[in-house]
Amino acid sequence: MTLRDIQQILEEWAPTEIAWKQDNVGLQVGDPTARIRRILVALDVTLETIAEARRKGANLLISHHPLLFKPIYSITPATDIGRCVNALSKHGINVYSTHTNLDFIRDGTSFALAAALGLRNVEFLRMSYQIQKKIVTFVPSDHVEQVADAMAQAGAGRIGNYDNCSFRIEGTGTFHGNPKSNPTVGKRGKLEYAPEVRLEMVASEWQTNNIIQAMKQAHPYEEVAYDLYPTENQSNEYGMGVVGSLERAVELKSFLASVKRALGSRSLRCTGNLKKKVRRVAACGGSGSDLTEEAIRQDADVFVTADVKYHTFHYAAAKIALVDAGHYETEYPVVRSVVAKLKRELRKMGRQIPVYATKTSTNPILYV
Ligand SMILES: [Zn+2]
Repeated sequence: MTLRDIQQILEEWAPTEIAWKQDNVGLQVGDPTARIRRILVALDVTLETIAEARRKGANLLISHHPLLFKPIYSITPATDIGRCVNALSKHGINVYSTHTNLDFIRDGTSFALAAALGLRNVEFLRMSYQIQKKIVTFVPSDHVEQVADAMAQAGAGRIGNYDNCSFRIEGTGTFHGNPKSNPTVGKRGKLEYAPEVRLEMVASEWQTNNIIQAMKQAHPYEEVAYDLYPTENQSNEYGMGVVGSLERAVELKSFLASVKRALGSRSLRCTGNLKKKVRRVAACGGSGSDLTEEAIRQDADVFVTADVKYHTFHYAAAKIALVDAGHYETEYPVVRSVVAKLKRELRKMGRQIPVYATKTSTNPILYV
């Protein structure tokens, strides 16, 4: 199995197109044709995680944080990145990063954090703005399923927890083929009236081209008639942060103790009344403090995230219990999600490629 095959599994799950524009996700170092023997998943690429990959015989290191982010002008042992790239090349280890695209998917970084915190009925805290289009095509009745299936496979018709969503209405299509035409139905040079179905499906803008291509391939007509409409709908397929609830209300103090246990946090920074009962919990793995206002707006009792600034604590103090549980600690649960996802997909494909979660802590923060 090649790196390209693994990449395909990961990108069907967390498409690179949904990542932040400033992000740099995808293959960082390596060769897509390389045969992958074993895989190590970590939050960061460091000399220590590279050494762990070597020890485990892994020639693919999947990281959450991209190794290459800012422009670099030389690869030499003078910089951390240079030392890592040199070590990776020397030992034939490939690096693939899945970052904000993994944050924005339904079972991504914040969903993994929610699972670790034992939240129920988890939903996105804020939907990410993905422009939606409406694709409408006209298909002879006996080919509707085939065309709708192909469009759905390419990503059309996804609305929240539902897929294959479409609307269909029967009507009559007319066409008149010129002498060069080769009509599937009727004869060239003759005005035809054909029973057709108007098939409508929604699509995220970034998937539109693929969907149209799939639609044309599955469609029986020589010339496929379709309309592509802009909509003002926001897709609810991707989002930032999550909100859910605990099985029962508990005092903030005991909730904080359970957060520490669940995430292995040595210490937490927080605001709020320790005696107050909390039940509705918002969470965002990594630097999510920009979502504090949204968590308040959605009546969360507590918001667990990381990299919270002093003034944000001030802003939140009287409105919500705001908890900084550490960047590394709030993101680590997604390492286990990536491992589980890959194992599941590889098993389905009958492939026996071992996948490991890193045992090396790459948390640069010491609690003393
Ligand atoms: Zn992060």
